[in-house]
Amino acid sequence: MAKIEEYAHIIGQPLIDDLRLLGQKLKNRIIQNINSTPVGGGVAEILNRMVPMLGELGLDAKWDVIKGGEQFFNVTKKFHNALHGRQEELTQRDFDIFMETSRENIKDVNIYGDIVFIHDPQPIALIEKKANNKWIWRCHIDVSNPNEKVWGFLMDFITKYDSAVFSAPAFSRKLPIRQFLIAPSIDPLSDKNKELPPETINAVLEKYGIKKDKPIITQISRFDRLKDPVGVISAYLQVKKYINCQLILGGGTAIDDPEGQQVFDEVREMAKADKDIHILLLPQNDIEVNALQRASDVIVQKSIREGFGLTVAEALWKAKPVVASSVGGIPLQIKHKYSGLLCHSIEGASFSIKQLLSSPEYAKKLGENGREHIKNNFLITRHLRDYMLLFLSLYHPQDVVQLC
Ligand code: UDP
Repeated sequence: MAKIEEYAHIIGQPLIDDLRLLGQKLKNRIIQNINSTPVGGGVAEILNRMVPMLGELGLDAKWDVIKGGEQFFNVTKKFHNALHGRQEELTQRDFDIFMETSRENIKDVNIYGDIVFIHDPQPIALIEKKANNKWIWRCHIDVSNPNEKVWGFLMDFITKYDSAVFSAPAFSRKLPIRQFLIAPSIDPLSDKNKELPPETINAVLEKYGIKKDKPIITQISRFDRLKDPVGVISAYLQVKKYINCQLILGGGTAIDDPEGQQVFDEVREMAKADKDIHILLLPQNDIEVNALQRASDVIVQKSIREGFGLTVAEALWKAKPVVASSVGGIPLQIKHKYSGLLCHSIEGASFSIKQLLSSPEYAKKLGENGREHIKNNFLITRHLRDYMLLFLSLYHPQDVVQLC
């Protein structure tokens, strides 16, 4: 795993020095992160890197995962969709199930952090264990237009926290507690994002039986309706009428996402008539995801709703031309026609994919601009700095926190 010092050649030594200084101010503070899945999805992706890096900077960072059964995760998936503004029928029984599992977790989860950092709604009720420590609720969802019933239910918990964190100004809500806006990030030196030799990329293509004889369009995402894999296939089929190309839909599932298998089966059924569509159920293997992204000519993220959309940052960091829906955090990453192309429909996506495949110079320029934008705004080093400033601010609620 890369050491903090190795990031200096990307972001410069002064920023590394800032991180060390902040680390000293927070030395040995226990930061207890809690979420609902150890693998799968953006939250686990970030914690995997954030926790060891905070440790290297001198904090005592930990990560715990709550427990929940199928019924609980069915309900929290409904919450997730409803908070994203989707139509969901929620019954009193759903809220009861949420509280039953929450009570179990309140009983079983050991709270030992100086700062308890709760990620997303699933573990939110643990706030009932608040004592003299500081609690942060970190919302990774775009809650700009939530189902009011679910939001109202969560508010009873949120107001007990010291602070809340949202990924973007547009995601935030009016709250009676302090809130911070901190964008997520990717780690440029992780297996998911580091440079790969061509042999590694070719070996992964070979493993999945994919030839480089025609352009590759790729979407990497959990098999989730909000990622619109069916829409991606429709867009690809429209492109295919004009340009002989192939499609990779690669993804896995997360234990807190009970719909994954069903969506995967539907997509596979839809794709079976076209041998140029590769539906890959990826094991948790970052090198493979990295290789597939790097092997692609165009990367798509045709989400219907999105949190921040880490896969977009991952693609742009690899200087890939990206076509992505203008939802959630994606417009923060893609300035239309500068660092990628934003789309609003299947037709729009297929038009943009065709344009990129037929104008390689233009596609290359968008990719390069995208990489620069990610480098300046969405790398984990910036994220570490923001989080440590947030931690410090909890101990100085009246002050503006300064670096020195
Ligand atoms: N991911 C992965 N394997 C997969 C599907 C997704 O490693 O099969 C990763 C992807 O590379 C990204 C994260 O999971 O780092 C997904 O984060 P994003 O913000 O795009 O979406 P979320 O799943 O959190 O809604």
